[in-house]
Amino acid sequence: MESRMQVAVVEQFGKPLSLQEWIIPAPGPGQILVRTEACGVCHTDLHAARGDWPLLPALPFIPGHEGIGIVTALGAGVTAVKEGDRVGVPWLYSACGHCEYCLSAWETVCAEAQFGGYTKNGGFAEYMLADPDYVAHVPDGLSACDAAPIICAGVTSYKGIKETGARPGEWIAITGIGGLGHLAIQYAKLMGLQVCAVDVDNRKLEHARRLGADVTINASQADPAMAVKQSTGGGAHGVLITAPSLSAFTQGVGMTRKRGTCVLVGLPPGEFPTPLFDVVANCITIRGSFVGTRKDMAEALAFAAHGKVKADIERQPLSAINSVFDRLTHGNVASRVVIDFAQ
Ligand code: NAD
Ligand code: ZN
Ligand code: ZN
Repeated sequence: MESRMQVAVVEQFGKPLSLQEWIIPAPGPGQILVRTEACGVCHTDLHAARGDWPLLPALPFIPGHEGIGIVTALGAGVTAVKEGDRVGVPWLYSACGHCEYCLSAWETVCAEAQFGGYTKNGGFAEYMLADPDYVAHVPDGLSACDAAPIICAGVTSYKGIKETGARPGEWIAITGIGGLGHLAIQYAKLMGLQVCAVDVDNRKLEHARRLGADVTINASQADPAMAVKQSTGGGAHGVLITAPSLSAFTQGVGMTRKRGTCVLVGLPPGEFPTPLFDVVANCITIRGSFVGTRKDMAEALAFAAHGKVKADIERQPLSAINSVFDRLTHGNVASRVVIDFAQ
């Protein structure tokens, strides 16, 4: 008899996830099977389940791209991991390995890339298949629940900060202090940056101050671009926009110092107006940033394993997934919910 697993499935866009029992898949050649211990819930999972983006995943699919677990079976030919290893199955599920982007360590933009919890089934399931060449290797001593948010929220914010080019002593403005932003503050402080945290929720801003933000600004109360310019003496050298809200994007460009870089990471559907004259005349760079490479992943996890970065997590069982989605939609998650499969 085939063994079964609990999974949470998107059957239709915009509808609650369906809790089902599926047969545990067997790893084919070059694949591994991972028994999920924990999986973070990212705002991207909401976009995926709503069908927000131009490239739609095929239905039905299992979301979740912060899944951490133990390797329990190897398909033929696998040597990169062994049974018993603790690995993470990230958004960058796999890439081709030989295009110009893969060759230059930009596998995140490979045209053949597959995405965990999107084009491949993800971590809202008791077992996941994975590509051993692209899994995250969780350092010893880092628990599954603590590692989970690092493999998307952590690596994405860490990479995004690097992409701003801001140097120690300079200012970074981080807008959106949720799952990504609360980790971004910690990485930015470790990199010696002065942090200006921007959100629309005072609870998030209080948390930002506890995490070391030097200045906090409520974007729903003041003109946040003006407020950042005043607090930083002319604008932030780097801006990292993680807010899933289009208004935050025009504001973020307005917060950028002359010759600074505004990095777009949040992914609300749609377009935002850009003040073309100001961008040109102030020599501002606007740059997209998409998760991080395997090298960025190892660096982001090392900070967590050394105790320098710690995700604030709330544990929930898989059966609570729809109420977690509801709360995340309405901004009622403090930082990150992690589905704990031990519960
Ligand atoms: P989250 O829901 O945990 O946090 C979002 C935060 O933004 C909340 O604190 C909310 O209060 C705040 N916010 C909402 N509107 C705002 C506004 N107008 N100004 C300032 N703050 C505002 O979400 P998350 O999991 O951190 O994800 C954030 C976004 O990043 C999502 O759109 C997600 O899809 C995207 N994302 C992108 C990548 C990437 O590789 N580029 C990776 C992961 C997530
Ligand atoms: Zn994510
Ligand atoms: Zn490639």
